[in-house]
Amino acid sequence: MEKLREKNLEFIKEIKKEDPSYFDRLKEGQSPEYFVIACSDSRVCPSVITQMPLGNLFIQRNIANQVNENDESLTASLYYALKHLKVEKIIIKGHTGCGGVKAAADGNDEPELKDWIESIQSSLPAEKTDHSLDDLAKMNVLAQVEKLKQHPTYIKHGKGVPVIGCMFHVETGELEELETVIASAGDVEETI
Ligand SMILES: [Zn+2]
Repeated sequence: MEKLREKNLEFIKEIKKEDPSYFDRLKEGQSPEYFVIACSDSRVCPSVITQMPLGNLFIQRNIANQVNENDESLTASLYYALKHLKVEKIIIKGHTGCGGVKAAADGNDEPELKDWIESIQSSLPAEKTDHSLDDLAKMNVLAQVEKLKQHPTYIKHGKGVPVIGCMFHVETGELEELETVIASAGDVEETI
């Protein structure tokens, strides 16, 4: 914890040097433009890779960036992001070298991971294929975009809010856009 505390003090010092009233404004509230669903992987932090300052990204993270209707944490965040924060865009961000996708593709059988692995597997081809791990990670993102599109909370509160599927390339740092879909009045249409 000492290391974290030390870095935190440095962070405060740096910010106040540039902008002495920064935290006074920060405490007034948040109005983030994006709701981001990303993998928990320690290499893919959405704020770090996009250099987004505090207050811009409302973020939900889990292993392999899953969207499940029965995930109460995700559903609550999605509702709050759309209904109260009125985010303008939803980003689902997968990444290359995803350990969660690999575990699902390899058929990991640790009981503690079982339900989650099954959820990831439901987004991958049922048969063993010769797709690369990174192709599977892409398919996983596209499947989550589809699941979000069908999520009752999105259908009810997300009209006009685009859902953008992205891949973060760990080997280059690049954020690649894969697909954007948008819900319009009463139904959901694909734009790309
Ligand atoms: Zn991952």
